[in-house]
Amino acid sequence: MKRDELIFDIIEKEHQRQLKGIELIASENFVSDQVMQAMGSCLTNKYAEGYPGKRYYGGCEVVDQSEQIAIDRLKQIFGAEWANVQPHSGAQANAAVFLAVLNPGDKFMGLNLAHGGHLSHGSLVNTSGIIYTPCEYNLNKDTGRVDYDQMEEIALRERPKMIIGGGSAYSREWDYKRMREIADKIGAILLVDMAHPAGLIAAGLLDNPLKYAHIVTSTTHKTLRGPRGGVIMMGKDFPNPWGKKNPKGERKMMSQLLDSAVFPGIQGGPLEHVIAAKAVAFGECLQPEYKEYQKQVKKNAAVLAQALIDRGFSIVSGGTDNHSMLVDLRTKYPELTGKVAEKALVAADITVNKNMVPFDTRSAFQTSGIRLGTPAITTRGAKEDLMLEIAEMIETVLSNVDNEAIIAQVRARVNKTMEKYPIFAY
Ligand code: PLP
Repeated sequence: MKRDELIFDIIEKEHQRQLKGIELIASENFVSDQVMQAMGSCLTNKYAEGYPGKRYYGGCEVVDQSEQIAIDRLKQIFGAEWANVQPHSGAQANAAVFLAVLNPGDKFMGLNLAHGGHLSHGSLVNTSGIIYTPCEYNLNKDTGRVDYDQMEEIALRERPKMIIGGGSAYSREWDYKRMREIADKIGAILLVDMAHPAGLIAAGLLDNPLKYAHIVTSTTHKTLRGPRGGVIMMGKDFPNPWGKKNPKGERKMMSQLLDSAVFPGIQGGPLEHVIAAKAVAFGECLQPEYKEYQKQVKKNAAVLAQALIDRGFSIVSGGTDNHSMLVDLRTKYPELTGKVAEKALVAADITVNKNMVPFDTRSAFQTSGIRLGTPAITTRGAKEDLMLEIAEMIETVLSNVDNEAIIAQVRARVNKTMEKYPIFAY
């Protein structure tokens, strides 16, 4: 068969883009060679509807092994009693939890999207907000941190059946214990979506939500550094509090409901090549070097946040406890939108994304902020010295968004610098 040069040329262009640039998108990372190999393997050819040992297709004995290893390793990393590694993405993992826990129209509560929540936690254009009824909690305006007192007040008033912790642009540790206390007061299920900080949690550098939440979801491709995908876990399985009882007076266990919600509820055949890549990535999480990597991710984020503050930028909540930070551009550049900032930085091969800041007066298309994160650049070997340089380059670009010559100079410097930092796959 003739090689599809058109597509492989495009892939090579993207490879070059990744090699030459400084990647600061907080939700991205670079996987290892072996994770990439597992993803590009013959396992993509296999249909395996069902779960290990209980499939609807023949010939699944081999993929049963890799899926079971993925489950076992994931349980070991986070201390889970139960895990499902089949969700194709983080949004799918969340959708499956909604299907298992809620009925259409049921009320649930998540972090306000404009304050750092995720689309799949109640956006009106996502199934979570289309099929179910969202209410939201916010960040405190003065501290830029989750307002747990307000969360409790809203929970007692609205009585949601499920409360969701976790978000996409929140740089602070979560008080999962307090959230569980709030959930218990109203008999709600606590779901924590730890997609963003999962790698730091895996390395023991942040609190583990499995100790408090009924159910935990995550993506596998952000700080965790695996292939694109999702997972669901429980620290301890429990009977569905609202389910019908069988003649013996028992209710279905949540693990059964969650497994059925993933397949056949919202998905068909699992992506066994991706699941094998998840298993490989989880194996990497269990190695001692992984903890060192995550420590550096956290250190780099703290140094980058402080370096930006020293240059007059404002960081929401004043800093970071994890891998990410939200820069409120209004303090230093009142006229500059996140959209223009993103475009100028991308022109200098520094990739970031525009992001609304809490209580933003601009729309999600313009925004007053940019979100930055250190997982990807740290995978390439970056240390604190590069963070100081990055802060300087960001300031140079954002002070000169209309000056193509200065942006080109920064781009040349970025490209030269990144020659010293290899990407480990390819
Ligand atoms: N949950 C959170 C907290 C996220 O930040 C994201 C993605 O950014 C998701 C879920 C969705 O993950 P995916 O893009 O894999 O569907």
